Amino acid sequence: MINFHVLTLFPEMIMQGINTSITGRAMEKGYININAVNIRDFSNDKHNHVDDYPYGGGAGMIMQPEPIYKAYKSITDGVEGQPRVIYLTPQGKVFNQAMAEEFAGEKELIFLCGHYEGVDERVLEMIVTDYVSIGDFVLTGGELPAMVMIDAISRKVEGVLGNDISSEIETFYDNLLEYPQYTRPEEFMGMRVPDILLSGHHGNIEKWRREKSLERTLKNRPDLLENANLDKSDIEYLSKLKKK
Ligand code: SAM
Repeated sequence: MINFHVLTLFPEMIMQGINTSITGRAMEKGYININAVNIRDFSNDKHNHVDDYPYGGGAGMIMQPEPIYKAYKSITDGVEGQPRVIYLTPQGKVFNQAMAEEFAGEKELIFLCGHYEGVDERVLEMIVTDYVSIGDFVLTGGELPAMVMIDAISRKVEGVLGNDISSEIETFYDNLLEYPQYTRPEEFMGMRVPDILLSGHHGNIEKWRREKSLERTLKNRPDLLENANLDKSDIEYLSKLKKK
């Protein structure tokens, strides 16, 4: 069970995004819990402002430190220990599967979603433990990145995927991309499912899948192979592919 707390200006966006499909079911069953906290509720201003002009000039608005700090305290005052606080930012370490697995070991996680041109540096220095990006592009806010992370982390929480095996043998497991998958019908618009998958011979099917994984990884993400767990026959197969 993980408690995800999200500091945001758009709590409804988070709740609507997570409240469907597998993550929605995980919430219902109590494997995960989402607490979206509206930073605006902690504004000091009678117009509920939470942003102001940047010192030194420049374009756009910056989120003020005080409402964020108060919203953060409203969470930490009610939980044990010092939860990790993830600031979603294009300047952070790029999120990956290994990070999802690591965060899945936490009991409480706090996400801080920025907006406008970002957040006053002082509150970041005060509360943030992890700076995370979801890729080398700039979005309008941290809500979608927070949802991306919550989805990926939730899949690694025990019980969330009915069949735990399906999150083990998939893309990035072992630093390889997953092999191609097929379901019924056996023939679709003249294209047949590979005969080997219909053969019922488990050894041959495993070998075929492993080779397809190696082929795909070499073609699409050769960088992953550096850290993949390869045995002698994998290495031989890869060198055969490279010679082709
Ligand atoms: N001025 C900031 C900069 O250059 O680093 C970008 C601000 S961006 C327009 C507004 C907010 O969106 C950020 O504070 C952050 O929370 C979120 N954001 C944008 N792109 C992101 C990304 N690739 N990964 C994670 N969060 C992102």
